[in-house]
Amino acid sequence: MKNITTSPADKNAVDTPPVDEAVDRQWADLLSPARRQLMRDTGLAVGAFALAGLAGPVLAADAKAPTGIPDAGKNFAEPPHKPGESPWGYDTYKQPTPRPAGVRPGESRLPAKPRAYTDIKSYHAHIYFDEDSYEKAALIRRWSAERFLVELGDWNTEPRGPHTTPSFYFGFTTDLFPKVVPWLQLNSLGLTILIHPNTVDPRADHLYYALWVNRSQPVNAFDWPTLEQRKELTVEQIYPNTKPHVALET
Ligand code: ZN
Repeated sequence: MKNITTSPADKNAVDTPPVDEAVDRQWADLLSPARRQLMRDTGLAVGAFALAGLAGPVLAADAKAPTGIPDAGKNFAEPPHKPGESPWGYDTYKQPTPRPAGVRPGESRLPAKPRAYTDIKSYHAHIYFDEDSYEKAALIRRWSAERFLVELGDWNTEPRGPHTTPSFYFGFTTDLFPKVVPWLQLNSLGLTILIHPNTVDPRADHLYYALWVNRSQPVNAFDWPTLEQRKELTVEQIYPNTKPHVALET
């Protein structure tokens, strides 16, 4: 006798479409064109290595500079040093402990009063993905655009700006915060999402004022100008570009 039961899990089961190989290949190319190209054109790759081999003697000749010390340009990380010796010298253990510039604005003194929350003019949600999770990102992207009037950016299939993995983002106005943020919390599909405000201090927006859905990951905005270093105190503007046509599920 066949046992027919309907569990809550079945009711909520997502209708997963079969993998479309053409779409999958397109994404694989987008996310890792160099690797795909290497696999496809092995002959060319071997040719490139051969060329690199030919270039070898030229590089070796360059290395034989009169001093025998590698060129230490102003952006060269290692100080000049003799072969076989530490580039850092032998006294680093005696160095005093320096304090790096903080990421916390105004940390040198206690504020006289709290900041106005209205200093936040809008928000960005950055959704991070990789070659294994891009379909989840595509679903979040489509669902978001169908439901919210937001400014949806391009696909970034490589690190861009302070974002260290592939990502896409949408900007939203502060009035949407009570809906967009809980919606992303429940619909992240396990992806890492950075939600940062937009104030006059983008460095602090990314490094200090951020919210995360799921695990956080590195955001490389440390070399951005601090609030004190910024010449013009402009705030990122939001220009909504989606056409929402699906009522938000409640
Ligand atoms: Zn952003």
